[in-house]
Amino acid sequence: MFKPKAIYYEKEIIDYSLGRELMEKYKEIPKIQIESHNNIEEMRKNPNKEFANMKRNLIIGVRKTHKFVENHKTSDFLVPYTSSGCIASCMYCYLVCNYNKCAYLRLFVNREKMLEKIIKTANKFDKDLTFEIGSNSDLILENTITNNLVWTIENFKNSDHGKLTFPTKFDMVDPILELDHQGKITVRMSVNPEEIINKVEFGTSRLDDRIVAINKLKEAGYNVGILIAPIILVDNWKDLYKELIKKLNLKLSNKVKKDVFFEMIFMTYSYVHTKINEEAFPNAINIYNKEIMTGRGKGKYCYKTDVRNEAKAFLIEQMNKYFNNNKIEYIV
Ligand code: SF4
Repeated sequence: MFKPKAIYYEKEIIDYSLGRELMEKYKEIPKIQIESHNNIEEMRKNPNKEFANMKRNLIIGVRKTHKFVENHKTSDFLVPYTSSGCIASCMYCYLVCNYNKCAYLRLFVNREKMLEKIIKTANKFDKDLTFEIGSNSDLILENTITNNLVWTIENFKNSDHGKLTFPTKFDMVDPILELDHQGKITVRMSVNPEEIINKVEFGTSRLDDRIVAINKLKEAGYNVGILIAPIILVDNWKDLYKELIKKLNLKLSNKVKKDVFFEMIFMTYSYVHTKINEEAFPNAINIYNKEIMTGRGKGKYCYKTDVRNEAKAFLIEQMNKYFNNNKIEYIV
């Protein structure tokens, strides 16, 4: 159970029932009032080595921007939802866009307004649009603090149109198993070889537990997908990913294997990540490899095209061997 070191809060949160609930829940925890969750001066001044420590705090505010972004992968829109950032510390986390304001967990208490906008947009269309609600945080993890996922599923089930989806790296799915979700929710479990989880995805659930969670979700009638992501080309990557795909085949239930779909994404990395990780996790492995990575503009790195193509061919071969009947939505 996550026990925050301190709560940073905007005073408006007490106008919302969730805000009052969280203040009561954490009444024993030291509190610091802030003007804006976007700009916490004392956090901004912290050196990189404080990165993991800063994630022990909880920031609670009101979300002001509600802009939907069109998407063409497994959803129609990326939607800013009830949280941003995370208390885990995956070394490549894409939310580390700006160390000062994106990494730690920020909770937004105006959930009614956010869900209402999704439902209104969904109902403007005859076809069921899919809304990605987990692109800024991990909602299975967030749910252990706010119960927001349970609230969302219960309040979305009667919407005439629309579907919701989110990815996760956590196994705490029990609170949503008994819910009447009306088949409107797709949970996409992100997996990596156990060795990579141990060395790179600090604070997330173990591989075996994630697999058990996928089986449970399917049993409870949820649509499930698997993200093999991010694929990290460490020295022994071929063995690791071959074993991973084999293990998935062995441990996933037949029900899951019948129609689970896959997404596969190669890791991208950045100069900001290298700076934070070298100071915050000095004993961790280095996942930036200049021999096989190349610049992609604005301090970003990705695997070189020929390296990626070789890896792609290998992974598709393994997928064809073990998941011949399942769809790979994309591999990028
Ligand atoms: S679990 Fe997801 S959101 Fe949290 S640190 Fe890892 S990649 Fe980032």
